[in-house]
Amino acid sequence: MKCTKCGSDAVMKDGDWLTCLNCGNVMFDTRRPEETAAEISPTKLLEQMEAAAAQEEAPPLRRTRPEKKRKSRRKAKDAADKAEEKNPVKDIVDFMLAGKDASYKDMELKGECMETVTDSTMYNPANGSLLTEAREFNLMFKTTIGATSDENDPNATGWLRPETAQSIFCQYKNILDSSRVKLPFGIAQIGKSFRNEINPRNFTFRSREFEQMEIEYFCRPEDGLRLVDEWLEHRLCFYDEVGVPREHIHILDVPDGERAFYSKKTYDLEYEFPFGIQELEGIAYRTDYDLSCHQKGSGRPLEYFDEETREKFIPHVVEPSAGCDRTILAIICEAYDEEELVDDKGKKDVRTVLRFVPRMAPIKAAIFPLLKKNGEQVRIAREIEKTLQPWMSVFYDETGAVGRRYRRQDEVGTPFCITVDFETLGENDASLKGTVTIRHRDSMKQERVAIEDLLHWLIARIR
Ligand code: ATP
Repeated sequence: MKCTKCGSDAVMKDGDWLTCLNCGNVMFDTRRPEETAAEISPTKLLEQMEAAAAQEEAPPLRRTRPEKKRKSRRKAKDAADKAEEKNPVKDIVDFMLAGKDASYKDMELKGECMETVTDSTMYNPANGSLLTEAREFNLMFKTTIGATSDENDPNATGWLRPETAQSIFCQYKNILDSSRVKLPFGIAQIGKSFRNEINPRNFTFRSREFEQMEIEYFCRPEDGLRLVDEWLEHRLCFYDEVGVPREHIHILDVPDGERAFYSKKTYDLEYEFPFGIQELEGIAYRTDYDLSCHQKGSGRPLEYFDEETREKFIPHVVEPSAGCDRTILAIICEAYDEEELVDDKGKKDVRTVLRFVPRMAPIKAAIFPLLKKNGEQVRIAREIEKTLQPWMSVFYDETGAVGRRYRRQDEVGTPFCITVDFETLGENDASLKGTVTIRHRDSMKQERVAIEDLLHWLIARIR
């Protein structure tokens, strides 16, 4: 792994951490164990240092005889330089010795220590490696605002938002005054959030830039606890509808002491990803904490006036907060299937298919002329494409055998394939003229539908 700051290869592993020996940058090791297997362990490093120390004690290279040709001297020097260059251990040891009045010989080989250590916070309990001093992490991304702003000007400092929620709270008053809504009401937002995650991994599951979907549901204080349960039910229905069955979602009622300090009730919805059970969404009853803070910080009243009861109060809020990327990943995990097939001749095959619920499929229907050389089939297929396109995403394909085209669509999860064939032209059976073959992705069954009914037929099935 290269240093993320200076790009140097000279990094040393210490438990889960890597220290750049060039610039001192400390990085979290995000690689998998198999990627680091070939790495120099501290023990190996010490062995190699010993060898290097022995080399240092060895007599210097014999001088080249003056009468030898200049060319061969250059060659020998190049080889020596190269050997020196290639030794990463030397870089590491040189770095350790930099600025110190010491040489390899002065270094003591300690080796691995096997004694049991108790009551110590100096070592990683998982692997015994020495821990660094506790350090602060920057969890948010800092930037400077203004084209000519100075990095050191505190007034030019800005932070990338780590959640979408706070922009909803900033807009709450505008929305309340302009749309004249009454409690309870919700404001939903979807957008980018940025977190300086220590350990980004697992595809889009944990990234530093991600898409968040949040709802702030404003309510009367006495309704908060009831509404958090109602939202739990709504959210489970949502996951069901997008293809993640509620039976596959673990509901964690976050106990006292583990919730954020302002939350009176929090549910975490978790999903069993291939890399473990992980959070999909949090649903939290955040009381009036956020709006009270905004009111205090802005000095502007953010209270709600209830015309019926003539009361003024800061609304409470229930917040379902979900990751869009994680939801999509869960949908893909649910949909992915490798189906074993046996053809008429008993030959086995595996079909890769994404069984998206049709409303979530990126392509709703694929349209094929059976033969790309048949002008009439191509014309009708193109016409169908034109008719469907304003209503849904469709894909036209005329290359390769139709069976291969079906398989390609299975792999991207297209629920319906429409084929314009010889029956469409009325060539084999006049009664089938003007109909197309529809092939279903999941069952692979085929049926005939009239072209004029196609749009309604599809709309009823993709909503
Ligand atoms: P985690 O414990 O997994 O870090 P969190 O409790 O910090 O998540 P919240 O602050 O509640 O997450 O954010 C709401 C949702 O945003 C999470 O449930 C998750 O789906 C999503 N999310 C949070 N961090 C990330 C990330 N780094 N990458 C992708 N999605 C994320």
